[in-house]
Amino acid sequence: MLNYKFRLYPTKEQELVLEQTLDGCRWLYNYLLDKNNMSEYDMNYALTELKEQHLWLRNYHSKMLQMVAKQVAAARKVVAKGGKLSYRKKEDFNSFTYNQSGFRLESDKQLSLSKIGSIRIVLHRKPVNVKQVTICRSKAGRWYALVACQLPRRSFTVIRYRNPVGIDVGIAKFCHDSDDHVEDNPQFLTRMLRPLRRAHRRVSRRQIGSSNHEKAKHMLARLYERISNNRRDFLHKLSTYYSSRYDLIFLERLRVSNLTRNHRLARKILDASWSTFKQMLQYKANRVIEVEPAYTSVDCSRCGHPVPKSLAVRTHVCTKCRAVLDRDYNASLNIRKRGLESLLLLLPVERREVTPAEIVQRSLKQEEAHEFIRG
Ligand SMILES: [Zn+2]
Repeated sequence: MLNYKFRLYPTKEQELVLEQTLDGCRWLYNYLLDKNNMSEYDMNYALTELKEQHLWLRNYHSKMLQMVAKQVAAARKVVAKGGKLSYRKKEDFNSFTYNQSGFRLESDKQLSLSKIGSIRIVLHRKPVNVKQVTICRSKAGRWYALVACQLPRRSFTVIRYRNPVGIDVGIAKFCHDSDDHVEDNPQFLTRMLRPLRRAHRRVSRRQIGSSNHEKAKHMLARLYERISNNRRDFLHKLSTYYSSRYDLIFLERLRVSNLTRNHRLARKILDASWSTFKQMLQYKANRVIEVEPAYTSVDCSRCGHPVPKSLAVRTHVCTKCRAVLDRDYNASLNIRKRGLESLLLLLPVERREVTPAEIVQRSLKQEEAHEFIRG
């Protein structure tokens, strides 16, 4: 499944209907939550009866109500694992779902929803094979459609590739790949940090429960939303860039950074970006393989000689073969080399199209094509 998020622009009247729909679904959710012994099947059955007693429920798309029953069933499963079951208040019930039916994308500007109407939507990408549409209200009060598309299944039994790439993600720049392509950290991160800190401070200074506190919270939510939207867009573009150019992508297995020790905002957002980037690649690209991160920035990608260096040292200078190249470029070449080697070792000999030795030779040749300064 591939998920897209699109902004909705309901009219005032439509917004009212959307709010009412949320209220109705929430009522049903809390009602069903009370019926402890009911399975999802029982709840669906009870819905028919419920519609007789509460005629207003007929104004709701029936599949949408069934999805509420599904939500309740899912919540009960969480409780079985030791979670807590609670009624939903208005502010924490923010979405309803159309599954399989009840929705239609009429053009790239209109989303038609059963029992609600045609709402203006902005499609910045073209979804195909749509299976489910979830309408949700963000904390900042905006409306979105989360559109889930079914992807065709691919089989990965035989690994063939023409165009492998290694990608090194970092803090100074977002990533550097083995073809020496650099993607800088986008503006949303650097430019938004100061307003974000200011908004955080404002929230903590104001008295809890006051209307000024509420206002400050709303502002903060809006800022976060803007950053996360920009970030998603950037990551979508970047992951599409890689998945359309390369059929085999190697990434470092991400080390979970120590957030308690270093919980700076920028770092938090970056950490989240890397894992989202990886997820996007995993569903868009032909094949993504993670390699162990050890020593990728230390070893020389050309001769394998270890060259330890601190984070501040941005250039890799090999003391043995005298290769000089960007630190992250060197790391990405190592990631690709290591990935290709590990992949070949996993395959049975008769299925290997090339031997590990050939791979190493090949990558050496490619590297020679790039610039090396020799002493
Ligand atoms: Zn070297």
